[in-house]
Amino acid sequence: MLAGEYALRILSTEPAMISVRIAAALAACLIVPAPQDVPVGYDDTPMLPNSQWRVHDGSRPQPTIVTPGAVNTAPPSDAIVLFGGDVEDLDNWAGGPWSVVEGTMEVNGKGTIETKEAFGDIQLHLEFSTAPGEQATSQGRSNSGVFFQRIYEVQILDSYRNKTYPDGQAAALYGQQPPMVNASRRPGDWQTYDIIFRAPRFGADGKVAEQAQVTVIHNGVVVHHAQKLLGKTAHRTVASYGEAHGPAPLALQDHGNPVRFRNIWVRPLDL
Ligand code: MG
Repeated sequence: MLAGEYALRILSTEPAMISVRIAAALAACLIVPAPQDVPVGYDDTPMLPNSQWRVHDGSRPQPTIVTPGAVNTAPPSDAIVLFGGDVEDLDNWAGGPWSVVEGTMEVNGKGTIETKEAFGDIQLHLEFSTAPGEQATSQGRSNSGVFFQRIYEVQILDSYRNKTYPDGQAAALYGQQPPMVNASRRPGDWQTYDIIFRAPRFGADGKVAEQAQVTVIHNGVVVHHAQKLLGKTAHRTVASYGEAHGPAPLALQDHGNPVRFRNIWVRPLDL
């Protein structure tokens, strides 16, 4: 039977059923999760430079949600594998140690860890999974973070239906710049960060001459492009650069939440 014929038959013989179906469709449209209208963030923090928003501004627009596709990211041949799933890979890290569970490395409350090797400019690939079933909200839900050179954080958080201040959500340059969109996957699913970090350059006077720059691809979606950092990550104040420094370790934050990691590799670059 042709589709048009079928439609005609329904229209002529089943008007009551059509009404039921339309009602059901309308009801389905109405059954959506309630908007998260709880207040978040701060309204007493300093204004960010060249911005109409405060640090951690709760009224800053929430990034649009984008549903990511599949991402395949095995390490290339010249990568330094920092965690490939073996307990022995913990030897690449100082601090912690975190737990290795089923080939993943899990935050366990023993503190932030950092690589034994120091890095300047790098390409980083990292996969993380936020904990399912968490009841905490805003910054309390699966908070971690990847810190370049120990002090420049790209936030890790469960930002799947978890409202927080936009410069503190997943893939935000914490306290500075929200991601262009929210490409977060649901808790328990593996997510990818592919990040190109260009380290800051300092002049002979010890002051920053060229700001650090970060490009972040979250689950295959560009969320920052060559974004300049205002300085080292700060809470409730505008970031600024501290003392001049050279290469330094890559750190993963223990914020007290059970976040898992796998497949972490870097490629040192000279940008
Ligand atoms: Mg964090």
